[in-house]
Amino acid sequence: MSRIVQIANTITVGTLAEKLDIPVSKLIGELMKNGVMATVNERVDFDTASIVVGEIEDLDVNLELEKEKSEATHQRAKPKSGKGQARPPVVAVMGHVDHGKTSLLDAICDAKTAQGEAGGITQHISAYQAKHGDRVITFLDTPGHEAFAAIREHGAHLTDLVILVVAADDGIKPQTVEAIRFAKKAGVKIIVAINKIDKEGADANRIKQQLAEHELTVEEWGGETVVVEVSAKAKTGIDKLLDMVILVADLEDLKAEVTGPATGLIIEAHMEKGRGPIGVALVESGILKQGDTLMAGSTYAKVRNLESPLGDKLEKAEPSTPVVLTGFKTLPRFGDEFTVVKNEKEARSLLDNQARNQSKSKSQDISGGELIRMIDKQKQVSELHVVVKADVQGSLKSVIDSLRSLNTEEVAIRIVGSDVGNINEMDVHLAATSQAIIYGFNVEASAATKKIANRDQVSLRTFKIIYELIEDCKNELNKLLKPEIVRTDLGRLIVKGIFKVTKDEVICGGEVTKGKAAAPSKAAIFREDKQLADVEITKLQRGPQEAKEVPSGEMCGVSFNTENRVDLQEGDKLEFYTEETITRKL
Ligand code: GDP
Repeated sequence: MSRIVQIANTITVGTLAEKLDIPVSKLIGELMKNGVMATVNERVDFDTASIVVGEIEDLDVNLELEKEKSEATHQRAKPKSGKGQARPPVVAVMGHVDHGKTSLLDAICDAKTAQGEAGGITQHISAYQAKHGDRVITFLDTPGHEAFAAIREHGAHLTDLVILVVAADDGIKPQTVEAIRFAKKAGVKIIVAINKIDKEGADANRIKQQLAEHELTVEEWGGETVVVEVSAKAKTGIDKLLDMVILVADLEDLKAEVTGPATGLIIEAHMEKGRGPIGVALVESGILKQGDTLMAGSTYAKVRNLESPLGDKLEKAEPSTPVVLTGFKTLPRFGDEFTVVKNEKEARSLLDNQARNQSKSKSQDISGGELIRMIDKQKQVSELHVVVKADVQGSLKSVIDSLRSLNTEEVAIRIVGSDVGNINEMDVHLAATSQAIIYGFNVEASAATKKIANRDQVSLRTFKIIYELIEDCKNELNKLLKPEIVRTDLGRLIVKGIFKVTKDEVICGGEVTKGKAAAPSKAAIFREDKQLADVEITKLQRGPQEAKEVPSGEMCGVSFNTENRVDLQEGDKLEFYTEETITRKL
């Protein structure tokens, strides 16, 4: 009978190996086979773990999800519904690029988020609250679905609802499908906003048809999917959309515990001049107050300022409220869970314990990097080394996750360094020593830094659109793929006479008995069934004339070059073929 092992929603590779009772190197190898490059201390989610565990031979284990328990120091008190106090729904707006996510959020929240955006992708995660009648709705602006998945990995069922934006003049596109898949997998309800309904060529019915093809049948056609036609530009349909959000959310009876220490998730982090490390967080349970001390990942904060994302000062924040926090000792990380603790002393001691536990688990293994290099060698994975810099933690995580998703069994990206902030001399130094390309997303490099990069022959590439960055990296990976060699068999010649044999050249004559002989080409020489050599055919001679091809049934002279001397005999066969080298793409 298989052994049942319970794990949390996400788990470090080290802990998983321990629970499975297998060497961590074996687990890392299995993860790689599945395209996941993870070091000992990195986390994998439950789904990934289940797939990989299922594939390990001689291991009869079934993974089960631990109920609502994470690896955080504090257990999360987060009833989605049922107990506690009613809370606003948390809504993510998703959809294909340019379909109007940002414009819709603008229309809803009246915030000028669309300004300064380059090319359609929202640059970082943020959250806003909008009032609708006497109700409040929390909106998340997602930087890309990869980052969203990352939040999910951290064990948070962050969103209650997804508004899927589909442009009425464009229809369902790859990212729309991805968003549908994501929402379904996360068990999150979808409300479809058919946007740009004001545009000429807008065809809501066609969109509904396409939705039905993706198992989202609209209510008027007997399905369950709520669809609202809107125009973010003309600001029509917005009220109805928000009515629907409230309606669908109310069916879920969303509640949260307000007693006990506040907990939540860091959804953005960045440095700000004069204010130091800033964290944007979403409160999930409890009530967060100014002056509270909280722990998040490997840092802590005595909350100096508690503000709404639009900059309003707050004294307290209840569940589902997004807040901007100052007072962190160091930059928290996107996806870190936070918990309020008694005071700074407790925070420090808990962090000390955490660090000790981590270093204990580290010392049992060789470092993750070393291990991966060893396994890489075995598996002959070609690696592209990169240093990644981005403007905020959210986009950094998003870029890194997208880059990792490019890994295959043959080629992989190794991130030798990553950080938030402009590209500096240290990055160039790191890239030079590790022969890496520097990728910057929404960051810059000073003229001095560029000069050093130039001197050290470090390629420094900055992008404002994530897809372009990923495409560029993909092109680099393509260059590492071994080309495919396609062989085409041409025909056969039976040797009837030998005219000249030197150590590297042979001239002979014979009859083409199948297909054709051709020059230039290659040939495999066979005596009976044994292959003697592979040679380069340089010349065909038909009577006094040189020929490019000689068909079956004809006699001809053949010259070929060999690497080693071939003592050709009458009756040997030349199997003619050509080889074409085809560059491959991911
Ligand atoms: P996002 O990439 O999904 O965030 O899309 P944006 O909000 O940046 O919108 C992409 C483009 O579509 C912009 O040029 C918008 O002005 C335009 N747009 C968005 N909503 C509407 C709409 O309802 N009607 C029309 N006509 N254009 C819109």
